Amino acid sequence: MATETELALHACECEICKTGRDAEVARGHRRINLFLSRLTEPQRRWYVAMLSGEPDGLSDRHLSLITGLDEKTIRRGRDELEADLSHLPVDRQRRGGGGRLRAEKKTRP
Ligand SMILES: [Zn+2]
Repeated sequence: MATETELALHACECEICKTGRDAEVARGHRRINLFLSRLTEPQRRWYVAMLSGEPDGLSDRHLSLITGLDEKTIRRGRDELEADLSHLPVDRQRRGGGGRLRAEKKTRP
């Protein structure tokens, strides 16, 4: 039943989702995780950091339960945004592999 996308999704561990007492909230949390599943690692922590900074934002602890990101990671994302991401090169968001990407021969389906 689960698609590949769903398998990659982090399942929210907050009380509301675990007890299933608010479908609307649960949908919202799932949407956050769906979005996160398509982001790179730095983008993930920046997005969650932004959520935490909203006026009626959730606490880091709650966001950590929702997204599976460390509270420490969320704080780091917030610090990086505070600093205008100035110490982070624009071009180097992909981790792992290192070096340049090879020219792709495959075409996307
Ligand atoms: Zn939740």
